[in-house]
Amino acid sequence: MSGQSMLNPDRAARLAELLSLFLPNRQIGSVIKGDILAGTGEQIVLTDAFTGLPLAAYADGGAGAAEAAVQAAEAAFPLWQSLTASARGRIIWAIGQQVRQHAAALAEMEAISAGKPIRDARAEVGRVAEMFEYYAGWADKIEGSVIPVPTSHLNYVRREAYGVVTQITPWNAPIFTAGWQIAPALAAGNAVVLKPSELTPLTSLALGMLIARTDAPRGLVNVLAGHGHTAGAAAVAHPLTRLVVFVGSVGTGRVIATAAAEGLKPVILELGGKSANIVFDDADIDRALMGAQAAIFSGAGQSCVAGSRLLVQRAIREEVVARLAQAAGRIPIGDPLDEATQIGPISNQRQWSRISEMVAESQVEGASLAAGGARPAGLERGHFYAPTVLDAVTPGMMIAREEVFGPVVSVMSFDSEDEAVSLANSTAFGLAGAVWTRDVGRAHRVAAKVRAGTFWINSYKSISVMSPFGGFHASGHGRSSGLEALHAYTTTKSVWVETAEHPAAAFGYAGER
Ligand code: NAD
Repeated sequence: MSGQSMLNPDRAARLAELLSLFLPNRQIGSVIKGDILAGTGEQIVLTDAFTGLPLAAYADGGAGAAEAAVQAAEAAFPLWQSLTASARGRIIWAIGQQVRQHAAALAEMEAISAGKPIRDARAEVGRVAEMFEYYAGWADKIEGSVIPVPTSHLNYVRREAYGVVTQITPWNAPIFTAGWQIAPALAAGNAVVLKPSELTPLTSLALGMLIARTDAPRGLVNVLAGHGHTAGAAAVAHPLTRLVVFVGSVGTGRVIATAAAEGLKPVILELGGKSANIVFDDADIDRALMGAQAAIFSGAGQSCVAGSRLLVQRAIREEVVARLAQAAGRIPIGDPLDEATQIGPISNQRQWSRISEMVAESQVEGASLAAGGARPAGLERGHFYAPTVLDAVTPGMMIAREEVFGPVVSVMSFDSEDEAVSLANSTAFGLAGAVWTRDVGRAHRVAAKVRAGTFWINSYKSISVMSPFGGFHASGHGRSSGLEALHAYTTTKSVWVETAEHPAAAFGYAGER
């Protein structure tokens, strides 16, 4: 258990101080054209996950803020387009530098308001700066192509921005996910309306204000403070939203995909997972165990790529379960502001209850508890849940199929490589997975056969803005990093130029020559 924080014990006061660095008068509201628009709807109270006490409150921006945000982005879009691609790149780079300059404050805000361990928060803010730096370099490298069509035409293909992109993000990695989506959207030439989770909006609002401090056209990036079913739904449905990007749960993803379909809008979905972490008996067990812990316990399991199913070859199952259970009890868990903390609280009470109910239900279905399964001893307040190991899980159980989004790993055993692959592919999801083995051929065979957007060999959880990320099946579609994101955030236009001195046909399809 880590000790008490050395920082200001009054978190609400400290948070207000941090807010004042970004939001004029510390007022929490939507960022529209670089100004704060106060909401007029229901009060939303932000709670400190560490103490369970209120931190701050704001009014839902609702459909009014969504209308203002979309209109602001629509007005900024032609201004953004009128800049040279290199000038856009320089502004995107400048956003990255703003993030670097304010990294310490942003990380502390994230730690207090999202309950994220300060070490993780710092790392994530650093990654956000990298995202803007990476995509700054891409801005003037989005090229078209010339197609050798079988007619007298010159046919060339341009990659064009959509216009206003509405992005909806969840609470588990607020500023990380905001950067992950805003940076490629801007590099591709779009304007943005971002609707972060109503539970953790502060660092996204701060990022919106930092973007307004650069030379970006006013209104290029607008950030909504409000609920999903009010502000978020209105932005998605707005006729001027040309592309919808959603990061969040399967249930909400379905609602948003349906709303986007209603407006005939393209949609990128980054949803949940039930990723399989496969350990063969020839693996380096020490490393596999370290990997298994990082896979499920870092971020208190509130990670879309969490290795929530640990598939272990039967001969080593007992040893792996015993050692993992022992390790689970030793990870420093406590105050997110404490430098020693590796696992913080669950971000909100609703999620804590869901984790607790799913663990209880799994035991009714026959899983056995090898570690955790309750609030950790000594942490009587706040939303803490102990790192939990469930053994004897079988593929039909709810805990083996549904995302927990908490520090809960379900251990299953297998005999053969085929069985491991078939177990890995036995859920509706396909976000990520990993294999631990010393057999090179097997590693690549398994990597090829597991249906997932990201796969690790003798590693877990590495991701980079440079590499494509996204899901198969119920984990979503579309990619939102790497070069693929630039393709996802642009659409093509095929331009035909007649070059013949005497065109063959004046009207209609000219046909093949
Ligand atoms: P959630 O689906 O409850 O909410 C996500 C966002 O959707 C929030 O901003 C919410 O306000 C908004 N929303 C809700 N209803 C809406 C509506 N009708 N219209 C528009 N917006 C609406 O998800 P959550 O609980 O915040 O986050 C956890 C989930 O996110 C997990 O399932 C996790 O796996 C997933 N996630 C996925 C990725 C990924 O990249 N694949 C990354 C992080 C988290």
